[in-house]
Amino acid sequence: EDPQSDSILEGLNESQHEAVSAELRNMLIIAGAGTGKTRVLVSRIAWLIKHYHIAPRNIMAVTFTNKAATEMRERLSLMVGNSVQSSLWANTFHSICLRLLRAYAQYAGLVPGFTILDTDSQVSLVKRLMKDMNIDTKEFKPSDIASNISKQKENGIRALAYSKKVSVKSPDYVKVTDRVYTVYEKVCNQENSVDFSELLLRTVELLENNREIRELQHRRFKEILVDEFQDTNSIQYRFLRLIAGPNSHVLVVGDDDQSIYGWRGADVGNMRKFLEDFSDVKQVLLALNYRSTQKILDVANTIIGFNSDRLMEKVLKGNFGEGDKVKILNCANNKVEAATVTDRIAALHDSGVDYRDISILYRNNYLSLDFEQNLLRKHIPFVIYGGQKFFERAEILDAIAYMRILVNEDDDTALLRIINTPSRKIGPKVVEGLRTIASERNCSLIKAIRLLEAHVNSGNVDKTLSSLYKKISVFYELFKALNEKRQNMSLSAFADEMLRMTGLYKYYQEKDFKDGKDTEEHSRYANLGMLISNIKEFEAAPPAEDDSSEENTSESTTEKEKKTEDPLLTYLSNITLVSTGELNEEGGTSNVADAVNLMTMHASKGLEFKYVFLVGFEKDILPSRLCAYSDKSLAEERRLAYVGVTRAKKALFISYAQVRSMFGKSEPTGASSFLRDLVREYKGKQDVPLMIEAVKGYSFY
Ligand code: ATP
Ligand code: MG
Repeated sequence: EDPQSDSILEGLNESQHEAVSAELRNMLIIAGAGTGKTRVLVSRIAWLIKHYHIAPRNIMAVTFTNKAATEMRERLSLMVGNSVQSSLWANTFHSICLRLLRAYAQYAGLVPGFTILDTDSQVSLVKRLMKDMNIDTKEFKPSDIASNISKQKENGIRALAYSKKVSVKSPDYVKVTDRVYTVYEKVCNQENSVDFSELLLRTVELLENNREIRELQHRRFKEILVDEFQDTNSIQYRFLRLIAGPNSHVLVVGDDDQSIYGWRGADVGNMRKFLEDFSDVKQVLLALNYRSTQKILDVANTIIGFNSDRLMEKVLKGNFGEGDKVKILNCANNKVEAATVTDRIAALHDSGVDYRDISILYRNNYLSLDFEQNLLRKHIPFVIYGGQKFFERAEILDAIAYMRILVNEDDDTALLRIINTPSRKIGPKVVEGLRTIASERNCSLIKAIRLLEAHVNSGNVDKTLSSLYKKISVFYELFKALNEKRQNMSLSAFADEMLRMTGLYKYYQEKDFKDGKDTEEHSRYANLGMLISNIKEFEAAPPAEDDSSEENTSESTTEKEKKTEDPLLTYLSNITLVSTGELNEEGGTSNVADAVNLMTMHASKGLEFKYVFLVGFEKDILPSRLCAYSDKSLAEERRLAYVGVTRAKKALFISYAQVRSMFGKSEPTGASSFLRDLVREYKGKQDVPLMIEAVKGYSFY
């Protein structure tokens, strides 16, 4: 069979074809939105498997979100068969590092079963430590200190190295970060937990320090492909350099105009570095856009054209004709805006459009509420991707904290969250007493409880200690009972039982009832019920695991590669990675039926929808109030607008309000400066690609 007539190449244009079927080598594809970068990357993997006979297990594909990874695996199994599903590593940087750390925990200085700290837990741990150290948490916000610590880790700077940089002349927040970082690092090690940036840093250090493991990965990952490369940060880039062996090949694809995570440390300069650090890189440019109609692209080109410092100027040229003009909806206020958008969506649906082909994109999560409520009122199904979602609700975090101490009993953060939730009359004094013992003995809280228990059982009667134990034993007995229960039950049955035994069901049921009178708060009990459903779904279809059989693994490492089979642990890892806004994921594992997609513009990167509503395109929202005064962040905000615009395939609506109610007060607002630039640009010209429509009053209900 002639490879050139392979269906993988069908319909590809010349440059796409060239990239997909290129010889084995390093490649860099820089190209604008919708030009088929992701498609080329996926086809390239299929090509590698089919024509270069690279085994799926020898390929690593890095995506920006878990959702993208799942889609990639699905598309690949259609192209080259199902075997790909289980053995190909297609994942985010975080998930890939987690996988490596689970496999080589001991070598990375971790105990298998370690906990992943999501952003919330990280902040609460930092806060707790700051309180212990008598640092004013009003003057220094724990979330700031936590993110400062993460930033250091992303630059590969450990607490000790950070300390060396700090001097008497350093600003106060640097000194505070330094003090907290040192203790934070120690406590994380002691609690056997890793935060998100630690996942990367640990892996990088593991690969740097352990030649055997590094070379094992070099032999394994022969072909490495990275999507959305413009948004990699320095630690991810370092990881990439380490994981790629002398005989591996790396393909990266990206668009400098879509670099929107600079605020989180992403460095578009990595595209330039790649050319220097990797040998003999073939560069491919893709020019044709296969996503949007030309009028949408014209608007996108004009918006991004206002940015001066671009790596490469690209003008998007479409393939599908002119299409309709972009509609600008100038709305009297935010209620009118939400009602109008909802109404248009209903009309589209009436004319035969599927809800899933429609999306509402906004700059900030808080903007979703008006739309959520309007959609609910009109019985239009919708899903929210990312942001403050299900797994960030207090009742869910409580349930998860119980699960966490069951898989990692040293997880003090989790333990402190629930030792007295619901109330077991274990007051702050008792907890303090316990923490004192733990810190004297330099051990975790659960170990401190065991010490207490041994002390009491030994007949030693120190009054204070035995009364302390008596108070705590209520919790400890529960902990032991839970541990026993979970041995012989399915995960979902156990979780249900756990919520009963811990009293969480009852606690939240009563709380719901008490708070029932005020609005939305009476659904916490139902949320716990949802959690059980979620676990059931997970049991029915756990995420694909790889074949951990290492054909060329040396003896010492094979054993460590055996994965931990504890379904609770797998479930926890899964939800921590899948549910956090940090990683831009949808809040759940269920397959969503036909529903409108709501998400932030950040979360929409890489996706496409037939109909897109860019809402809240307003002064002080986009560009964000915080970003309007620096050229650098203004340019990033413009790229964000560009990402939003280029998601639309058939039709684009951009809406803004003249008056917006915030904190209960109505404030005058108006069109975003990006929009005003756009309108000015087209003034007096012919064939303007947009039209403005004024929407007044509450005409919809
Ligand atoms: P982004 O920058 O937004 O991530 P991208 O460059 O990754 O975009 P893709 O998502 O790969 O672009 O492709 C955009 C759309 O164009 C997809 O629907 C894809 O299937 C389609 N497409 C890409 N190449 C072709 C082609 N040669 N013929 C037809 N459709 C194509
Ligand atoms: Mg893409």
